[in-house]
Amino acid sequence: MKLSKMHIKTLREVPSEAEIPSHILLLRAGMITKLVSGIYGFLPLGRRVLRKIEDIIREEMDERGGEEILMSAIQPAELWEESGRWNAYGPEMWRLTDRHGRSFCLGPTHEEIFTDLARRDITSYRQLPARIYQIQTKYRDEARPRFGLMRSREFIMKDLYSFDRDEAGLDESYKAMYEAYDAVFKRCGLDARPVEADTGAIGGNASHEFTALSSVGESEIASCDSCGLATTVERGKVLDAKPESGEELELEKVHTPSATTIEEVAKYLEIDEARTIKALLFVVDDEDSEYYVAAFIRGDRELNMTKLVNALGIAEHSIAFADEEAISKTTGCVGGFTGPIGLKNCKLIVDSELVHMKNLVAGANEKDYHIKNVNYGRDYEGDIVVDIKTLKEGYPCPVCGNPVKITRGIEVGQVFKLGDKYSKAMRATYKDEEQKDRLMLMGCYGIGVSRTLAAIVEQHHDDNGIIWPISVAPFHVMVTVINPAEDMQLALASDIYEKLKSKGVEVILDDRKERPGVKFKDADLMGFPINIIVGRRATENIVEYKLRAEGEKEELHSEEAVNRAVKLVVEQRDGRNYLKEPFKAE
Ligand code: ATP
Ligand code: MG
Repeated sequence: MKLSKMHIKTLREVPSEAEIPSHILLLRAGMITKLVSGIYGFLPLGRRVLRKIEDIIREEMDERGGEEILMSAIQPAELWEESGRWNAYGPEMWRLTDRHGRSFCLGPTHEEIFTDLARRDITSYRQLPARIYQIQTKYRDEARPRFGLMRSREFIMKDLYSFDRDEAGLDESYKAMYEAYDAVFKRCGLDARPVEADTGAIGGNASHEFTALSSVGESEIASCDSCGLATTVERGKVLDAKPESGEELELEKVHTPSATTIEEVAKYLEIDEARTIKALLFVVDDEDSEYYVAAFIRGDRELNMTKLVNALGIAEHSIAFADEEAISKTTGCVGGFTGPIGLKNCKLIVDSELVHMKNLVAGANEKDYHIKNVNYGRDYEGDIVVDIKTLKEGYPCPVCGNPVKITRGIEVGQVFKLGDKYSKAMRATYKDEEQKDRLMLMGCYGIGVSRTLAAIVEQHHDDNGIIWPISVAPFHVMVTVINPAEDMQLALASDIYEKLKSKGVEVILDDRKERPGVKFKDADLMGFPINIIVGRRATENIVEYKLRAEGEKEELHSEEAVNRAVKLVVEQRDGRNYLKEPFKAE
């Protein structure tokens, strides 16, 4: 392709809405374009990268028995009602009504659709296992779309669903997909770690997220160098502090004027924050019931919303912080002075470690007062007692006790053992050898294809632009003509271009009438792995050869430049080289 003829427009300025490198660079390099908040289009270069990622995914899925289909984005409400998720999914679901008043949604995911397909088409054990997937557009009306492709409202996902006869089969499908994911991300040049993930209110079943290490990632993962633990902080268990023995002292009301935060109370009473009880109040709006929840944790701990939501068995969108003043009459709470004693008309969730601690300080449910020597069992009890605290840097590893590390990452994929959750609700059965009806066991496996594209940029860029790994680069080589008005230069560049093309190398020719500086800047910004520059020494057949990742230019005979480029591209274009020696994020 000749750059002068292509639909590409690069930007010098950083677009005002973009905050993170991938968002800024993808917009600036003219790879994506924004329509409205959270909705993007892919321009020629971006489309090519997307296709490369998709093709790597296809290869890895197909190698493991995956069969590609394409279902529609529009889904009828009836299927979601069968699974019970039509109401449970909440405001993230994009709902619509047709002219006859029938309800639909734009699919945020496709479990119902694939379960329905399986129950219609699969009747016998002979048809199992089945691994069916698609690469398709998903819709989620995210509360906070941001960071460009990272969290958008329309995005591209690969979703595979496995159907097996029994647990052993499901284990096998899960393992196959886990391995496929590992290979996909490596071949895309990503350093993505599998981490144990939360399974939500369903509980019990296994799940892993693949997380690309990145400081801009929204996921937090806890890892332990000693035992190899790697888990999302939502899932990571926090060990309770050692149980305390000793005498339970008498309750004592103390005046704590204006001390409304844990920090202020601890300071005022000259005690450690860990000797206090922190209260957090919520309102839950769960389908047809509304109720209040008070969560109590040790003063120095942080509440983990996912653990709280799981303990309550509700959907994440149905809980919100309560307006303490508005609910004070009903519950008896007093903003800043709320404690567990005497609180009424609300569900009490108590963090497990509080049960074994003695003589703590809690709010008195009275303005400007706290209570000393509060003890679980004697003074208050929880409706639910469970670990609801967040795992933090330096906390003991739940497996081996050594301090854990917290790293940020981008969730690029997730694998999940669903078991019979959907097949039971939607009656997806098959007949076994004895003609007995049995439920299929399912797994689901998603890759955020467009998010993966952004994650690659996060891990591969510098101040000047993107540095594409060869396996996903929109083109492998950029041939830059310094002065296209010089016949010799244009002729040599065209010759190099044709030779590379004839060897299957994807090449773009920058023949624009622009200043050399502009061309170099654009080449760096767009991030083609190899740049061959044809300038004044074209008369001697000498060109400059530059690898985007390394930055140094080297003068070479044009033949040598072509040979080197071909060799490198052939070695790396399928990304399998990264399977042996994966790219490591800094
Ligand atoms: P997140 O926790 O980031 O919201 P999720 O757990 O809701 O993601 P899944 O339902 O597991 O996501 O979807 C599978 C994959 O789709 C994710 O691993 C992620 O890569 C991608 N994905 C999910 N939501 C978005 C989004 N809003 N924009 C882009 N990609 C997304
Ligand atoms: Mg997920």
